[in-house]
Amino acid sequence: MSVLEKLTSADAINLEDQYGAHNYHPLPVVLNRGEGVYVWDVEGKKYYDFLSAYSAVNQGHCHPKIIGAMIEQAQALTLTSRAFYNDKLGIYEEYITKYFGFDKVLPMNTGAEAVETALKICRKWAYEKKGIPENEAQIIVCDGNFHGRTTTIISFSNDENARKNFGPYTAGFIKIAYDDLEALEKAITSSKNIAGFLVEPIQGEAGVYVPSEDYLAKAKALCKANNVLFIADEVQTGIARTGSLLAVCGNCTCENQCEKQSSYVTPDVLILGKAVSGGVYPVSAVLANNDIMNVIKPGQHGSTFGGNPIAAAVAMAALEVVSEEHLAQNARRLGKIFRTELAKYIETSNIATLVRGKGLLNAIVINDTEDSDTAWNICMKLAENGLLAKPTHGNIIRFAPPLVMTETQLSDCVSIIISTLKQFEK
Ligand SMILES: *Cc1c(COP(=O)(O)O)cnc(C)c1O
Repeated sequence: MSVLEKLTSADAINLEDQYGAHNYHPLPVVLNRGEGVYVWDVEGKKYYDFLSAYSAVNQGHCHPKIIGAMIEQAQALTLTSRAFYNDKLGIYEEYITKYFGFDKVLPMNTGAEAVETALKICRKWAYEKKGIPENEAQIIVCDGNFHGRTTTIISFSNDENARKNFGPYTAGFIKIAYDDLEALEKAITSSKNIAGFLVEPIQGEAGVYVPSEDYLAKAKALCKANNVLFIADEVQTGIARTGSLLAVCGNCTCENQCEKQSSYVTPDVLILGKAVSGGVYPVSAVLANNDIMNVIKPGQHGSTFGGNPIAAAVAMAALEVVSEEHLAQNARRLGKIFRTELAKYIETSNIATLVRGKGLLNAIVINDTEDSDTAWNICMKLAENGLLAKPTHGNIIRFAPPLVMTETQLSDCVSIIISTLKQFEK
């Protein structure tokens, strides 16, 4: 098939089916354009995007400022590798470290790479600073976690589908229940070889599980008391998604001044990805202070594309958009409206049992078994009605639109969601 021919949805799906590995199960919608909160399929049908590429597109599709920065940089210099300096990386490093309040950043490309980077930094810190005997370091992780797809990361996943037949697995991880401080305390004090605690401030992929109010602060305190690194994976929750710049920011709505807020939990190691670039380019980052980051010396870690000039230019523009357009405040305000409206409906209906979330990272639980296809069928109907969302873990539907949404657009979306759910009432 010629690349110049106009594809129908069926053509595009057939091509992917024939020539692409079957490692995803997409909704049968073929998109070719996006702008703000909207995407269009190849037949010209317009949809609200309620996935935002798993929260990578927080700033909205094809944000002109971010695209402008990318085009400008692409015409000047794209990649030098880190064998040489470039004139964008240092500026970006200063910008992002000041933005989040850390001494240093280690730039990578994807979320999983950033998680791997954080794990390697944590282990090295454990041997060189904490004095754990070599190869003995243990990192605590949570049940239901999602941190990416590498061999090491799936080694400590609970998801059998992600794990099975990919062994042998990487050792050195202890799994405990999420949102369980007793379990954390027990694990942290179980051995002198605990190096770190890796946690998602809200478990997104697991189905948008919001932990209890004081969980993160108390977990951080336990880590501190035991000289264990608190490593926050904010790849999905970060960059204003949950109504604050970071989900560890708790209840503050400040812009880049989170350290002044009492509810702010400062991670020792912060992992970012996805919306760092507004979904425009693969950009991820690990942030930490000097006492931790300085364990990494030349030749010990890196990536050909990590810290490239396009990534640096794109990420700066994307982070500027977050502050300039007050996306955290908007997510917080619209999130409350969304949950209030959905909760009101759910009270009167038997198709969904609850709505939960924070900011504009929300989910509803469908009143059916986990292996039922009701949530999938609802998402198919939502698509028909002009709104794209995807089930996560069978009977849960996540709702995470771009944060540039207006209140009028949100009301429109709430109507679509409720009228669609009504079609499935029992
Ligand atoms: C998406 C995600 C990752 C992995 O990011 P990739 O860019 O897909 O490798 C890691 N952690 C969390 C919490 C995520 O949501």
